Amino acid sequence: MLFDLLTCGSVDGACKAAQEALGNFKVNTSPLNQTVVDKNWSETCILEPHCMFKPTNSKDVSAFIQIVTQFQVKFAVRSGGHSPNPGWSSIDGRGILFDLAGLNHLTVSEDGSVASFGPGARWLDILAATSAHNASVICPRTPEVGVGGFFLGGYSRERFHCERQREPEFRSLLGFEGGGANFGIVTRFDVDTIPTNEMWYYLTTYPSSQAEDILDAMVRWQRHGAHDLRASVQLVIGLDSIVVLLCYSEVASHPASFEPFYELRGGQVVLPPTNSTWHSLMTMIGTMFASQPARHDYRGVASGIDAQLYKDVYRFWERNARSVRAATGANQTFVVQHVSRNMAIQLQKRGGSPLSIPVRDCQWWTTTVDWKNAGDDAVVRAVSIGTTALMKSLSLERNLDVPFLYMNDASRDQDPIATYGSKNENKLKEVSLRYDGEQVFQKLQNNGFLL
Ligand SMILES: Cc1cc2nc3c(=O)[nH]c(=O)nc-3n(C[C@H](O)[C@H](O)[C@H](O)COP(=O)(O)OP(=O)(O)OC[C@H]3O[C@@H](n4cnc5c(N)ncnc54)[C@H](O)[C@@H]3O)c2cc1C
Repeated sequence: MLFDLLTCGSVDGACKAAQEALGNFKVNTSPLNQTVVDKNWSETCILEPHCMFKPTNSKDVSAFIQIVTQFQVKFAVRSGGHSPNPGWSSIDGRGILFDLAGLNHLTVSEDGSVASFGPGARWLDILAATSAHNASVICPRTPEVGVGGFFLGGYSRERFHCERQREPEFRSLLGFEGGGANFGIVTRFDVDTIPTNEMWYYLTTYPSSQAEDILDAMVRWQRHGAHDLRASVQLVIGLDSIVVLLCYSEVASHPASFEPFYELRGGQVVLPPTNSTWHSLMTMIGTMFASQPARHDYRGVASGIDAQLYKDVYRFWERNARSVRAATGANQTFVVQHVSRNMAIQLQKRGGSPLSIPVRDCQWWTTTVDWKNAGDDAVVRAVSIGTTALMKSLSLERNLDVPFLYMNDASRDQDPIATYGSKNENKLKEVSLRYDGEQVFQKLQNNGFLL
């Protein structure tokens, strides 16, 4: 074989060997297709790899893995490219990028109960296909997020078809136990659908001067309305305006569980109360909140539910985000989400291991920020780092601490796996050694929250 003759550790040799074995269509060498190189959502991740592997089936993936193993070269894996953490789903000239966009097959079982698709599939296509069966799937809050990272970083285990059907250890792949990018490259996701396609939604924006009233409404909803598991609220707090999206996962008319939000005044209705489909909501969200090319970051922290805590942290964030915006133009937001105790208990029962995920209703916070200049990276990120640190220290002081980090919203320097418990982490390491004896995914992979 050609690659037996080439030097171990030579990225150029690996690219040539791959080209020889799989052809130019599947191996893009210099000049690289810049549209593909630049596809990462965040400019913090855009790097020029030595070459790109573009598999179209699982055999290609397997052949590419053999090549990087043989040559001992670094690689990165990209599905939708929406992680903003540098080095996740991108790599510089010393390595190879696996771009999974070509693994975009999509089918739905005849009875509509299982959707199967590759990591290159797009959410709007998936929702259109399941809609035809009056079904839907759980998906992220915006449709441009990729399938691969979303699933491996924390998708609801309850809906993962393969786990129950085939492989008990499959659950280690999933984010709630810290699987992430640690065990291989997933080429197909088989997902139980949700047997409903219709929903009610209502989207309003408010001036940021109403932030504290809205936080009060959020807490009242979390205490009294969130036990209705059909109800969910997305709160995106910006420096100029606040988005409140109410969703109910069946046809409805002003569901009572959202009462605290109906009492808010001064809002501007963006989407009036509507009964429609997930697909139509996602299409609108994709259009309304399409982001511009920029550097991005997100950062997460969990806490107990408490209005005073929310307001204290909000005031700190608002003051700092405003002054950093004046200096750098950075646009910061603060996303507030409810995590129900029921979900946590379900996950713990299924996991059978002592995960330190919350066993009470709690709050998940994500700070997000978009900015332009690399020189501002540190000052811009300091706002979210300071905000999440304050949330943590106040939560500890006030007995509201929730020691859990959601992998999908964790920033580069956070350690979500450690928050899932040492027993769980040891189990992950054991599974990794069993299935990846050479530790290819630990040693050669450039990215991810690795073990
Ligand atoms: C605007 C926005 C909205 C979001 N909304 C949500 C939300 O509602 N819910 C939520 O849970 N998360 C949400 N996220 C977070 C999102 O799930 C993560 O950023 C996720 O990593 C993105 O997936 P991706 O495939 O686009 O990422 P990529 O950047 O392509 O990949 C991220 C990581 O996953 C690994 N990976 C990807 N595909 C595979 C694969 N097939 N096999 C092995 N490893 C793989 C990569 O190696 C990489 O480390 C959001 C992010 C953004 C930017």
